[in-house]
Amino acid sequence: AVKPLYGERWHMFDIENVALSQRRIAIASALKKAIEFDQLSLFFQPQIYLNTGKVHGAEALLRWEHPQLGNVPPDLFIPIAESSGIISDLTEWVITQALQYQKKMTVLLPQHIVSINISAKDLLRKDLPVLFITLLNEYELNPANIMLELTESATLFEGVDIKNALNDYRLIGVKIAIDDFGTGYSSLAYLSKMGFDEIKIDKQFVMNIEYSKNDQTICRATCDIAKSLGSYVVAEGVEDSQSMAKLQSYGCEVGQGYFFSRPLPFENYMQWLGANLENTTVFVNDLGKVV
Ligand code: C2E
Ligand code: MG
Ligand code: MG
Ligand code: MG
Repeated sequence: AVKPLYGERWHMFDIENVALSQRRIAIASALKKAIEFDQLSLFFQPQIYLNTGKVHGAEALLRWEHPQLGNVPPDLFIPIAESSGIISDLTEWVITQALQYQKKMTVLLPQHIVSINISAKDLLRKDLPVLFITLLNEYELNPANIMLELTESATLFEGVDIKNALNDYRLIGVKIAIDDFGTGYSSLAYLSKMGFDEIKIDKQFVMNIEYSKNDQTICRATCDIAKSLGSYVVAEGVEDSQSMAKLQSYGCEVGQGYFFSRPLPFENYMQWLGANLENTTVFVNDLGKVV
């Protein structure tokens, strides 16, 4: 073995950094071709009204399967897409697909709500509201059944422009949610200023709610604040019936998580929806298990 030299750590550190940035560049260039090569798909994860057990709708979640890289998780490629500008094409693709699918989902459930993740960067585009208007007309969809999920980010927190951008969407009639609430840059002042239709509690506060007093406090307080501000609450990361019951007791309206179902390919989601339309409190989850 080579004797370590002074500075070798830094040398190693640099190599790792180079490797990381090269990997990001490689992912970005592969991602540029993902639409063209048909490597993207939208999965849907059910959202359930906790009081009645009825289906509220589904969140559309992007999936990318690359022939060599395999399934690349969105937590990895979305930030790369955002910093490399590829996000605008991805967002357009996601919106177009999601609204096309929503047309089919509303055949089964007319009041079905589809939630779409939007990057804060997308909000600064003037052409996206136009795309929404076009697609809503084309598919004859109710804009009130479209929910845009915004993740708290530095851009989002910059404020004024975003508030204006949200007004464009409000005029169209689509609804706005703040995603991953409590984990990002948001403040309570921001919540009050923006008037979100929906607040999504991040799964990090939900997944251990059964055991963590602190997480219980945070979830309860978020539900109270949301209620006072006139928003409704969706909890993501609901993995068992005990967590569901806790959230319900705090007044959380809607739950989403592996307890109900994992995100599913569109055809499987349609099957799930068909099987759970009439349910009140009994679910057949994606493993075929009655819960
Ligand atoms: P998100 O919007 O907060 O989505 C919820 C994430 O939690 C999803 O991860 C979902 O699969 C996961 N999840 C839901 N329930 C449970 C549960 O019970 N247990 C566990 N362990 N996880 C659960 P996913 O699909 O990997 O997406 C990660 C993030 O990537 C999303 O977080 C969102 O920020 C981003 N993303 C996904 N699709 C899109 C998209 O189309 N556009 C944009 N801009 N971002 C997207
Ligand atoms: Mg989301
Ligand atoms: Mg979320
Ligand atoms: Mg989250």
